[in-house]
Amino acid sequence: MGTAIGIDLGTSNSAVAVYRRGKVETIPVDGRKTMPSVISYKDNGQILVGNAAKARLYIDPLNSIASSKRFIGNRDKVYHVHNRTVTPVDVAKNILEKIRVEASKYIGEEVKDAVITIPAYFTDEQREATRKAGEMAGLNVLRLLSEPTAAAIAYGLDKERNQTIMVYDLGGGTFDVSILKVENNNFRVVAVDGDSMLGGDDFDEAITEYLMKKLNVSGSVKNSNNGSTAIQQLKEAVEELKKELSESDFADITIPDIFGTHLDEEVDIHTFNQLTQSLLDRTIDKIQEVLKAAGLTKNDISRVILVGGSTRMRAVQEVVAKQIKQPYIADNIDEIVAQGAAIMAANLSAPDLDSTPVPIEVEEVTSHSIGIGLIEMETNEFKVFHLINKNTKLPCTGAEICFTIQPYQKELRLQVYRTESRIPTDESKIGELTLKIHKPQAQEVIAVALFEIDQSGILTFSSAEVGRESLIFRSYQEDGNLDIPLIESMLHSGDLRPVKVVINTNK
Ligand code: AMP
Repeated sequence: MGTAIGIDLGTSNSAVAVYRRGKVETIPVDGRKTMPSVISYKDNGQILVGNAAKARLYIDPLNSIASSKRFIGNRDKVYHVHNRTVTPVDVAKNILEKIRVEASKYIGEEVKDAVITIPAYFTDEQREATRKAGEMAGLNVLRLLSEPTAAAIAYGLDKERNQTIMVYDLGGGTFDVSILKVENNNFRVVAVDGDSMLGGDDFDEAITEYLMKKLNVSGSVKNSNNGSTAIQQLKEAVEELKKELSESDFADITIPDIFGTHLDEEVDIHTFNQLTQSLLDRTIDKIQEVLKAAGLTKNDISRVILVGGSTRMRAVQEVVAKQIKQPYIADNIDEIVAQGAAIMAANLSAPDLDSTPVPIEVEEVTSHSIGIGLIEMETNEFKVFHLINKNTKLPCTGAEICFTIQPYQKELRLQVYRTESRIPTDESKIGELTLKIHKPQAQEVIAVALFEIDQSGILTFSSAEVGRESLIFRSYQEDGNLDIPLIESMLHSGDLRPVKVVINTNK
């Protein structure tokens, strides 16, 4: 294997690092430590990525794309630029391709192997889409690693004391909170939580809305062509205002010509905090939930690490100090995730060579529970039966045995849910798994469905039709639970006949 890199594919900015000659280095892209995760399409078909694209965001907003990580894994989301349609996966592919090329130039060899980081709270579809973008960009994705874990690796490597670390990661578009136990370079994630629709962009949005109300901008002006250029201009000015408020108590926003008027406002930190309090509260709720899931109290946490550009906001630092304890703020806050990924990449690509860092072990957990809908015998109600619970160590498996209920039934349909609740809803349904019955029969046919989640948190299914004698007695253990390792080995060894599985995660 050649040199492997670590990539932090962020909503607002991306970064890349490599571990070599005994230390971790951030690889500059266009001479900077981070690259805006922005792409822009020019009339002549040229695609700009990074700084050059960000510069075009408000000259040509309709053909420029930012923050598309918020939509990755959403199959309905497409962008229309010039005469083509572009998906969030295409955007990620272009960003990753640029990173691969820049990293190859810096290292002096063709780079292929990479660890890419993702929010801990990413769903299976979001993970799968990220991996696909990596492959389309010519990368061999060694593993997807969650961002808080990567930060903990970069922070905690070689620290001798055993610690329980909480990582609070608020970036441009996502929020994650993880609790990890770190013991002698073993990084074990105990619990994760988060919100993949909460980040710095939402803070900008809240202030933008407030200023637009002050300017009395009507809906039709907002939606016009000029309107979107003006909104983009306003958003950029608001982001600067927000950053200034991380340093001082007052900041001015001045735009001479916008929406047919001019904007000249002073915003103080008190107003800013008031307008964004509800966003911050959502992160506090998640902190409490993750502590509860880990069975810990705030006194058990030895260190809180802040990650992500939005943790530069003073209100974030204050609230974390109040809720848990005074946080640690890394000097290289924008690079720490890529650096942790680079350490992991070096471990995975050459685990036995002297050139690798201290060997590390990383255990991550599932970010959501997965279940299927079945009629509960006692109540006769349609309920979710969880096959894999949230915060289960990766990789993991779950299985269910299903029966046909009518003679000559041709298929079995399983509704698959991603939810912590037992109540099935349309929002939590991620798809339908269809098990085709190979030989429909008068008597009931039994099938087994196996769900597997790999090291990167990606879910796959396999299933088989089984004879009653082969499975039903053999696969239940004495405690009444399914013997999953046995089912797994039967499915994988070809003992059971696989049937066609169609999973339609068309949401
Ligand atoms: P990341 O995805 O980690 O690069 O975080 C990007 C987010 O951090 C964006 O929403 C930025 O506006 C925000 N950000 C960067 N610097 C600051 C700052 N000094 N104060 C507040 N937010 C910031």
